[in-house]
Amino acid sequence: MTVYQVHRTQVSSEQDVFQARRQARHLADAVGLENQDQIRIAAAVSEVGRRLLAFGRVSVAFEVDLPDDASPVRQHALLRFQAEVEAETDDEFAAGVALTRNLMDTWEITRSPARTEVTMSRRIPQPAGLTEADLSAIQADIAGTAAGTPLQELAEHNRQLLATLGEVQAHRDELLRLNEELADTNRGVMALYSELSEELEATNRGVVALYAELDQRTSELRAASEAKTRFLANVTHELRSPVTSITGLARLLRDPASDPLTENQAHQLALLEDSGRNLLTLVNELLDLAKAESGRLQPSPEDVDLKPIFDTLRGTLRAVPTAEGTDLVVQEPTGVPALRTDPIMLAQVLRNLLTNALKFTPSGEVRLSAAYENDVVSLTVEDTGIGIPPEEQGRVFEEFYQVRHALQAKLTGTGLGLPYARRLVEVLGGTLDLESEIGRGSRFTVRLPVGALTGETGEPAQTLVLLVDDDEAFRTAAGHVLRSCGFAVREAADGRTALASIAAHPPDLLLLDLRLAELDGFAVLSALDADDVLRRIPVVVVTAYPHDVTEQSRLRHTTAVLDKTATTLDDLCGVARLAAAPRSAGHRGPIGDRRTEGNGGS
Ligand code: ADP
Repeated sequence: MTVYQVHRTQVSSEQDVFQARRQARHLADAVGLENQDQIRIAAAVSEVGRRLLAFGRVSVAFEVDLPDDASPVRQHALLRFQAEVEAETDDEFAAGVALTRNLMDTWEITRSPARTEVTMSRRIPQPAGLTEADLSAIQADIAGTAAGTPLQELAEHNRQLLATLGEVQAHRDELLRLNEELADTNRGVMALYSELSEELEATNRGVVALYAELDQRTSELRAASEAKTRFLANVTHELRSPVTSITGLARLLRDPASDPLTENQAHQLALLEDSGRNLLTLVNELLDLAKAESGRLQPSPEDVDLKPIFDTLRGTLRAVPTAEGTDLVVQEPTGVPALRTDPIMLAQVLRNLLTNALKFTPSGEVRLSAAYENDVVSLTVEDTGIGIPPEEQGRVFEEFYQVRHALQAKLTGTGLGLPYARRLVEVLGGTLDLESEIGRGSRFTVRLPVGALTGETGEPAQTLVLLVDDDEAFRTAAGHVLRSCGFAVREAADGRTALASIAAHPPDLLLLDLRLAELDGFAVLSALDADDVLRRIPVVVVTAYPHDVTEQSRLRHTTAVLDKTATTLDDLCGVARLAAAPRSAGHRGPIGDRRTEGNGGS
């Protein structure tokens, strides 16, 4: 900054104070400060001068600080006044003079025993127009400012006050105008807002209408699909009798007892029979699918042991003609507990998947296996056949879809097997998934929760008995008796399967043989004993060797012991009811130490 001293004056009387005041205002005006600033500066300079005058002769310097052009920081020009007296001032003075602080931008007082100095400045808003030459002219002008009388100064002061009042009034008017403008703008914004709200509401109404239309279309589609299903069901049903008649009549014509046929006729008849059979398959499969889709397919759940189903499949599918060198392996379903499902539907699904696998495996192996984990039984049909391309793996579950393949042309099929199988599995509460790699084979997996159909039958919950015996004949007979008197029955042939079944679905009563494969009856009892909840299951030990039970401590939680050789099956229901009763009635734990000892003695 460059400092120019524009003027210096000595104040030794009231008259000089007025003069300093005039000059300060004059300077403020000359450097371009507006009217109100001029008044502020004049008031500050005259007040500081007047108060300092009480202590001696006052010297007042008028300065202008101009910013350097070269300065990288933007600076303001300043108008500065420095008033000093060669005397010590008191605190009262300091408090009084400090009132001028608010009139200026910077304000500072320095007091010592020999000297008091007040420095204050105000920023000049437009420094660009102010040059050193201007300042020299202003300097001369101020020096020549004639000293006025107090009256003249008062008149001038009044004039300025009036001008300021006028300015304030103008500001107020301007403010009012701005307020009105703002109110107008507000009204505009409100109008826009309500317009937008209406538009939004209209859009909303449109969306709601669209949804309603979508709903309607959905119900129309549903109705159309139901109509299609009904049509399929009716037509196929109507077709079945004539087709059956055709195949029946063809068979009759071929009967050796009928009139002999020429070779040509026999050949045509064989073709006719073949077409009839294919047509009958198609009609039957369509009928099944229509039934499944209409929701009329109701499963009849029972406790199903997989072993007999697997045995039957192994037996029947052996008869299916397969390519030479294709092996069918049906693994024993060991370690898989009985599951509550519809055995006929389940067998249908597995037969379908296995027949497909055999059809599409020119050489290699087709394998059926079962596994059990986390209450879910997985049944897997795997083959090493032609495989299904990734993009068609979803489509094979669509009705009538068949993958194009050289092999396909030589095979019979309707494209309805997989959609039907998936529908059946869904009805059973499970899922059917496919993984396949072209040229390497396919794997179809049916996953069924062990108790998926429990409670879906709508029947009251039955008391569940787990019958554990390695003697299949006894299991079959006892199971039949117990079912006929209202119990739900699950079966297990060895200790390990029994524990898996108990863990998956704890029974209300356990009928337990002691001599078992894998884990014996005592091991089953001690495993139950180790579990706080399972130890409360009532247990009836049914054994042909009651003398096994010499160590009573090993049968701590046994409710009763039945001698198999001395108890008739008719007794079984009574014992089971008695043993299971406390649990069904909500009382947990064995019913004391009541025992039914066999006549054969221990
Ligand atoms: P289809 O009566 O033709 O067997 P499906 O619905 O059972 O009808 O099967 C549909 C199609 O899926 C079959 O035609 C075949 O192209 C393909 N497919 C099904 N199972 C297999 C498999 N194990 N390996 C290869 N392709 C298969």
